[in-house]
Amino acid sequence: MQPKLIIHSGAGSSLGEKGGVELVRNSLHKILEKLYKLLVDDQSALDVVVRGCQLLEDDPIFNAGTGSVLQSDGQIRMSASLMDGLNHRFSGAINVSRIKNPIDLAKALQSSPDRVLSDHGAAELVRELQLPVYNSLTDKRLNEWQQERQQNFSKSMANIIAESPGSGTIGVVALDKEGRLAAGTSTGGKGFEKIGRVSDSAMPAGNYATGSAAVSCTGIGEDIIDECLAAKIVIRVTDGFSIKAAFERSFAEAHKHNRDLGAIAIDANGIIAWGKTSDVILAAFHDGKEIGDSLEAAKGTFIFTAE
Ligand code: ASP
Repeated sequence: MQPKLIIHSGAGSSLGEKGGVELVRNSLHKILEKLYKLLVDDQSALDVVVRGCQLLEDDPIFNAGTGSVLQSDGQIRMSASLMDGLNHRFSGAINVSRIKNPIDLAKALQSSPDRVLSDHGAAELVRELQLPVYNSLTDKRLNEWQQERQQNFSKSMANIIAESPGSGTIGVVALDKEGRLAAGTSTGGKGFEKIGRVSDSAMPAGNYATGSAAVSCTGIGEDIIDECLAAKIVIRVTDGFSIKAAFERSFAEAHKHNRDLGAIAIDANGIIAWGKTSDVILAAFHDGKEIGDSLEAAKGTFIFTAE
């Protein structure tokens, strides 16, 4: 099969000025090109999704891994999940700190009988895997938090999207040459949230895949959970909806409920899709012929590529 790939780095209300768009575009396109080569070189969708999440987590302009936002108490707690469509298996780590790539925990948990670990358990796993201690804090995130502290945390969330150049949660969805699908999502959360708040990113609501479709979501986690968006789209496709019909129906419901969210997807036929109710979703895709992105798309749009 022709491999397919789509990645995102968040959704939200504004992209700021042109400089912000170009910064995000350059970063997403570079990562996309690297990852697409891996798919052409026969790597599995699951491995490429993990590698993609690592590269996006390592880019400090995105709110995952290095550059994650701070929570209300000034700490970074990150969450990540991975779903293998072939084996229909979800794994994830919730609210983990002092690790470079939270997606590595989700990967390690794919073969574990206990596949989603939070706080203390996730920290124990970091120790077991002997992953080095890592500080994900950037000056930009610290400054944002300090400013918010002065205003007594009046904002409901941090600048997690690309208001030049801050940016959001990341996600990767891939279809490999063998026709296998996988999805991965990683986040620092909304920013300024209560201690112990759990993001959609390490739940099937935010990241889900079967042999029929794979989806990664971004936006307000509570909205994504209320819609159960990733699982809903994937299950609709698995039950026989086309990816187009599944997106149209699921986003019509999300619009009706005034949700602020976005999703990227690929189905087993190789159709790539993204959709949003928010103003912007920062997504870029490679269909084997060309690279495209959603950075300047109008509010509330969808796109579906050909098979
Ligand atoms: N969904 C993430 C959360 O609510 C945030 C994001 O997608 O940017 O934790």
